[in-house]
Amino acid sequence: MRVPFSYLDRQFRAADVGEPKQNLDVILDDIKEFVQSGDFTLGKKGEEFEAKFASLVGVKHAIGVNSGTDALFLSLKALGIGAGDEVITCAETFIATADAIAITGANPVFVDVNDEFTIDVDQIEAAITDRTRAIMPVWFTGNAPDMDRILSIAEKHKLLIVEDSCTAINGTYKNRHSGSFGIVGAFSFHPLKNLNVWSDGGMITTNEDQLNERLRMLRNYGLKSRDEVEVFGYNSRLDTIQAVVALRLIDDVKLYTDRRIKIAETYDKAFAPMPQIEVPERHSHVRHVFHLYMVRVTERDKLLHYCIERGVEAKVHYPIPLPYQKCSQHLGYIPGNFPKTERDCRTIITLPAHPYLSDDEVNYTMETVLSFYKENPY
Ligand SMILES: *Cc1c(COP(=O)(O)O)cnc(C)c1O
Repeated sequence: MRVPFSYLDRQFRAADVGEPKQNLDVILDDIKEFVQSGDFTLGKKGEEFEAKFASLVGVKHAIGVNSGTDALFLSLKALGIGAGDEVITCAETFIATADAIAITGANPVFVDVNDEFTIDVDQIEAAITDRTRAIMPVWFTGNAPDMDRILSIAEKHKLLIVEDSCTAINGTYKNRHSGSFGIVGAFSFHPLKNLNVWSDGGMITTNEDQLNERLRMLRNYGLKSRDEVEVFGYNSRLDTIQAVVALRLIDDVKLYTDRRIKIAETYDKAFAPMPQIEVPERHSHVRHVFHLYMVRVTERDKLLHYCIERGVEAKVHYPIPLPYQKCSQHLGYIPGNFPKTERDCRTIITLPAHPYLSDDEVNYTMETVLSFYKENPY
């Protein structure tokens, strides 16, 4: 059996490869109609998707942009963050989180993770300096950071919160949607994210009217109107064809997410008794959306190899800590600074858990992992 990590070729196939299934013809009809309207740049469909997204997240404004990275970057720019400033974020995340901070000219300041792949809130205050402007908590793997504590630290030190919610559409913390806690939230519609479009796409969410206006200018050359330029800006609009696609897919996002959560529960249950597998604690006040199903294991590299040899496309997100990448050299971090991130880089494994896996594939994945430890009793 082959259990693929990616599912993009499966989204429109018959239901026997797993649920749910999207209706390709409906989306293609929408695109056909849209193309004939000629409303390519921003336009009505983009606005419709923004309105739908804002209501899903429970915020006043949603601003469509070209990617999740741009959503983070433009948010920081709109908040006036740049050279000489510091933004605190988690050492264990995708590189784009730190990219967005660094390309504004600000420095990312890394804080170690807790055992659940989110920022260790106990270490945030020690990282604050008089240059700190913002905290960028990451909903890494689709799990919620401790937002109550982060909100109170931010309030105490007068810092902004820019949420990296790129992996967490439909994720909640105490029934509040990801991307609605900070002054802004950033989402990605990259093809492998939980709401995927057919190319790149991103969204910024905010309740602030002024910031909304500023972000709309920044994503569109800095234009205030057709002829008036308020600030120097960028060209980072959400492609309207992607908005047409997303307008259909967003209706099913809860269905996809529920399937991911169900698969994760199946894995959790099977792995819980295994001393070689450490399943992170799950919290009832968090809706973890499992963009990645990630656990810590013994003999990770051997297990990874074993899975891949047997057709289970397991992965590692990610093997090298961000603070020790070449791009971070000037920040001066040295091995030992981030013990939990370093441990994770050696021990984490990500198993396929996307909504298009059949029950047989989920069971095969689970059995493959269990049989590795049966054959190799470490
Ligand atoms: C994917 C991702 C991003 C970037 O999103 P893109 O749309 O690929 O630019 C940022 N942060 C995290 C945590 C991500 O997983």
